[in-house]
Amino acid sequence: TLTVAGSINIDHVIRLPQFPRPGETLTGRDYRIVPGGKGANQAVAAARAGAATRFVACVGEDALAGSLVAGFAADGIDTTAIDTVAGVNTGVALIQVNDAGENTIALAAGANAELTPDRLARHAEALHCKQLLLQLEIPLDTNLAAARAAKARGARVVLNPAPARALPDELLALVDLITPNETEAERLTGVAVNDDAGAAAAAGALHAKGIAVVIITLGARGVWLSEQGQGRRVPGFSVQAVDTTAAGDTFNGALVAALQQDRPLAEAVRFAQAAAAISVTRPGAQTSVPYRAEIEALLEQ
Ligand code: ADP
Repeated sequence: TLTVAGSINIDHVIRLPQFPRPGETLTGRDYRIVPGGKGANQAVAAARAGAATRFVACVGEDALAGSLVAGFAADGIDTTAIDTVAGVNTGVALIQVNDAGENTIALAAGANAELTPDRLARHAEALHCKQLLLQLEIPLDTNLAAARAAKARGARVVLNPAPARALPDELLALVDLITPNETEAERLTGVAVNDDAGAAAAAGALHAKGIAVVIITLGARGVWLSEQGQGRRVPGFSVQAVDTTAAGDTFNGALVAALQQDRPLAEAVRFAQAAAAISVTRPGAQTSVPYRAEIEALLEQ
């Protein structure tokens, strides 16, 4: 199986003409409560792309948690390693989107902070997997413990290092495949990724930490794919973008789903870019994640 260990958030999204300034109150429109969280988005993307997926995560005791978990199950995700933690809220993201399409996001980690190494240890069987997919919205120690345990059992460890932050070499040394976007790559390496030369240099710095495969996502420009120090840009699919929320999450979930089926790396990247391209043509996070048949249809065009 493929195991995703990571965050679950309830996204509260409100559209506003512009962001309120400190002390200001503004009336917005189109308020929506939607499922989000990088871990959840990526687990959904992997499952819809056709992989048998297990999700290790925590929710709180609030009213919405049950329907979130039911939603994962409806997508075919194995939810047996999702714990309900008493006394905390499910992770929350308060998202403001302005008329320029920019966003601000305030997070309350809630139950995501309760996915500790001790709690993870209760789901040891989940780390007996072919691939482990991680992001950075749960405690770093938990990611470290998960990577160590899965690696010891022969799994491929895939890290989407988002949101952007610096990381200890100890974690990077356990990673087989890393998928930063431009901002995240710069935060990890100190190398600005403004062009192909920058991408190659940042990828080189990540290879030097012991990571075999580096994929830097470049938005509409596609990805920089680097293996054994040999890098090249792979363009994505040309689509009319309406909302790029969860493009990276869709890319990651679809990528590991394709690798789970032993597709060659270049083919898996193409599959993942097709999935991500579809997601940007639709609004929302999990609502925008495509199914395998849709991805295959775009690939056959
Ligand atoms: P993130 O959302 O994490 O910042 P990116 O913006 O780099 O990630 O997007 C991830 C992937 O999604 C890209 O590598 C690309 O394949 C696809 N993608 C993103 N934006 C577009 C777009 N406007 N058109 C087509 N594909 C896109």
